[in-house]
Amino acid sequence: MESTQLDLTTYEGLLAAIAPAEGAPSREVTDPATGEVIGLVPVQTPADVDAAITRAEAAQPAWEALGHEERSAALLRAADAVERSAEALARISSRESGKPLNGPGARFEAGACAIWLRTAAATQLDPQVVVDDESGHAVLHYRAIGVVGAITPWNWPMMIAVWQIAPSLRMGNTVVIKPSEYTTLCGLAIAAVINQELPEGVLEVVTGAGDIGGVLTADPRIGKVMFTGSTATGKRIIGATADNLTRLTLELGGNDPGIVLPDADPKAIAEGLFWGAFINTGQTCAALKRLYVHDSIYDAVVDELAAFAAAIPMGPGVEEQNLLGPLQNAKQREIVAKLVDEAKASGARVVLGGEPDADAPGYFYPTTIVADVDPSNPLVVEEQFGPALPVIRYSDVDEAIAEANRLNVGLGSSVWSSDPARAREVAARIKAGTTWINAHGALHPIVPFGGVKGSGYGLEFGPEGLKAVAYPHVING
Ligand code: ADP
Repeated sequence: MESTQLDLTTYEGLLAAIAPAEGAPSREVTDPATGEVIGLVPVQTPADVDAAITRAEAAQPAWEALGHEERSAALLRAADAVERSAEALARISSRESGKPLNGPGARFEAGACAIWLRTAAATQLDPQVVVDDESGHAVLHYRAIGVVGAITPWNWPMMIAVWQIAPSLRMGNTVVIKPSEYTTLCGLAIAAVINQELPEGVLEVVTGAGDIGGVLTADPRIGKVMFTGSTATGKRIIGATADNLTRLTLELGGNDPGIVLPDADPKAIAEGLFWGAFINTGQTCAALKRLYVHDSIYDAVVDELAAFAAAIPMGPGVEEQNLLGPLQNAKQREIVAKLVDEAKASGARVVLGGEPDADAPGYFYPTTIVADVDPSNPLVVEEQFGPALPVIRYSDVDEAIAEANRLNVGLGSSVWSSDPARAREVAARIKAGTTWINAHGALHPIVPFGGVKGSGYGLEFGPEGLKAVAYPHVING
């Protein structure tokens, strides 16, 4: 059935629009909160990837030739389309990724998709006059690369797709995107909504797991890969693209530290700490994953945080009252459970949670806070990516900074203090792509975002994000 005949502003219409063609190979998708089957997604082969890249390559010159104004206008119309379909998108994201509709959840995600599309449309990247005097005249231009290969993870499946798609399209590239195999419906749905406003072939979706991602990234017609996912996969992509010298933006995992200075107000920071750590039930790249608290206020911070956390309802995302949902998949739930069990066995103190209900349906793991945990405990040094926060005691700020910097990742980080100037001094000593003051994980569509060390390289958002999906061309003379 043609998607244009369906109403993409309803959950049922949107699901029908992205359903596999009659008789095509497909597989079932289940709701992580209930185990219920919610839809079907196509199972594709390397030949499908080849065909998608061929279509995207064919569509690229005309898309680039449209010029910045027309492409920006298309992105603005796409943002309007996302807004019209926001509730349908949110419901699909909630049911497939587990995110609650409310709080910083699925409706927030759909809203962010529209905001990032609009911002990409409005951001200017003018040619830059580098020299214009008696020594010469040189202008730096930013040109479309060609076809961008985009690969997304399952935690913010629509928003991250837009982070990759919007700047790429804005600069005149076409895109072939492969959503995570865990959240394929989300990838198909956001692309179907945006595609209402784009010429054919400009945005293609391929489905599958790492093998299909490998075929996409290794194709020599892909000029740029935008990737968000694990460090291990990022390294594989570097290998797969080495022969083609494909340009890369790699937003890889993190294990973000937060440092609470002795002058912080425990009650005032509890809410920010909580959402910094537990947004999307802890399944966020730049979430607070290890919290270092000064000895003088340690107990007060743990108590305030635990009291705030205990009041936040967890349950199926589509039930309006819930603000935390299940883990997206069984594997992730096992990782969280194992890390918490190991911490418990080591003598750490579980202040909240830590006892999953093995008989309950879905991949739920309770909101968990673990205190008096050794800085070298696996719950601290490995990325838990779930609702379990270790809180580590420190007595000397230098020691906390050293602990924050000791891991081979550096995406986000935060410093919490009643004295912003003091907090900024400490922030300057943290090795990370971003350090927030009295917040954690707050993203802004024109503030550059990226990582260092094992968290990858390249910047997203704003003019820097546009440069990342263009190649620089100097006209000298
Ligand atoms: P996560 O733990 O977030 O699932 P992954 O790195 O495993 O992180 O997956 C992120 C995305 O990368 C998914 O879309 C996945 O299918 C894709 N992927 C996995 N392996 C590869 C690979 N070798 N090449 C390209 N993409 C891959």
